[in-house]
Amino acid sequence: MAAERPVRKKPQQNHAEVVRTERLTPHMVRVVLGGEGLAGFTAGEFTDHYIKIVFPLEGIEYPQPFDMAQIRADLPRDQWPTVRTYTVRAWDPTARELTVDFVVHGDEGVAGPWAVRARPGEKVYFMGPGGAYAPAEDADWHLLAGDESALPAIAAALERMPAGAPVRAFIEVADAAEQQDLKLPANAEVVWLHRGASAVGEQLVDAVRRMDYPAGDVHAFVHGEAGFVKELRRYLRVEREVPRERLSISGYWRRGHDEDGWQASKREWNQQVEAEQETAPAS
Ligand SMILES: Cc1cc2nc3c(=O)[nH]c(=O)nc-3n(C[C@H](O)[C@H](O)[C@H](O)COP(=O)(O)OP(=O)(O)OC[C@H]3O[C@@H](n4cnc5c(N)ncnc54)[C@H](O)[C@@H]3O)c2cc1C
Repeated sequence: MAAERPVRKKPQQNHAEVVRTERLTPHMVRVVLGGEGLAGFTAGEFTDHYIKIVFPLEGIEYPQPFDMAQIRADLPRDQWPTVRTYTVRAWDPTARELTVDFVVHGDEGVAGPWAVRARPGEKVYFMGPGGAYAPAEDADWHLLAGDESALPAIAAALERMPAGAPVRAFIEVADAAEQQDLKLPANAEVVWLHRGASAVGEQLVDAVRRMDYPAGDVHAFVHGEAGFVKELRRYLRVEREVPRERLSISGYWRRGHDEDGWQASKREWNQQVEAEQETAPAS
C-alpha cells in the first residue's frame, strides 16, 4: 500500500552487540546496538529506515559467518531463523550506535519479549537498512499518524521536518504513561491519543477524520496496525484525493497475525485494498 517504492538492493548482512537497554515507557524498550560489526553500516537518507532482525532458532547450528541467503538455500524452511522488522530510531555513525525502540506487547511473539530480556554483550544479526520515506521539502503541510509501532519512525520524521510547513502528528498509545518527550520542530502540533479500552487505531481514525484539514499539498506518513491503516488510506486517498506519491501508508503489523503471517498475506491484502479503494467513489 505504500506509495513510495522501498529501496531494494541485496540485503546487507550485519552483526552488532547490545550496548545498553532502557525502558522508555511501560510498553516501550530501547535497545542500543554497537560494535565493530557496524563499521560498514550507513543510514540517513530516509526517516523510516528499517532493519530486519534475525532471531536464530534454538537448537539449530547455523553456518558461520551467519548468512541468511545461504541459510535459506541450504536449510529446510522450518529451520530458518525468525525475522522481525524494526525502524532505525537513530543512527550515530560517530559513536557507531544504532537505536531501535521495541513495543512490548506481552509475552507473545519473538522480538518484543526478546527486547525485554536483552542484555549488554548479546550478539544481534540483522539485514538492511531499507527505507522509503523522508518528509518532502516542497509539501505545504505534513501529516504523521500511527500507533506505537510507528512512533519511532514518526519521532525520526519530526526531527527532520523542513522548516516552515505545518506538521500535524497523531500518535495513538495505550495511555498517558506511554507518551514520550519528542524533539519537535516549531511548526509541529502533536496530538497524543489514549487507546484505553477502544480497538487499536479507532481513536486515530476518528481524530484524523475530525481534524481541521489544512488546504494545500500534503505529504502523509501513516503506519501501524493494518486495519486502521486501511481506513485512513481510504479517507486520504478516496475522500481527500491525496495522490499516491504523497502517501507513505502501510500496515506494520496485523492484529491476530504474527509478522510471518502478516508478511505472507500482505501482498494480497494490499491488492484487495487497492482494488476496493482505487475504484471507490468518494462518500
Ligand atoms: C517497516 C516496519 C517498521 C517497524 N518498526 C517498528 C518499530 O520501530 N518498533 C516496533 O515495536 N514495531 C515495529 N514494527 C512492527 C513489528 O515488526 C511488528 O509489531 C512485529 O510483529 C513484532 O514482532 P514480535 O515477534 O514481537 O511479534 P509477532 O510474533 O510478530 O506477533 C505475535 C502477536 O503479537 C501481535 N503484535 C505484533 N505487534 C504488535 C504490537 N505492536 N502491538 C500489539 N500486538 C502486536 C501480533 O498480531 C501477534 O498476535 C515495524 C514493522 C515494519 C513493517
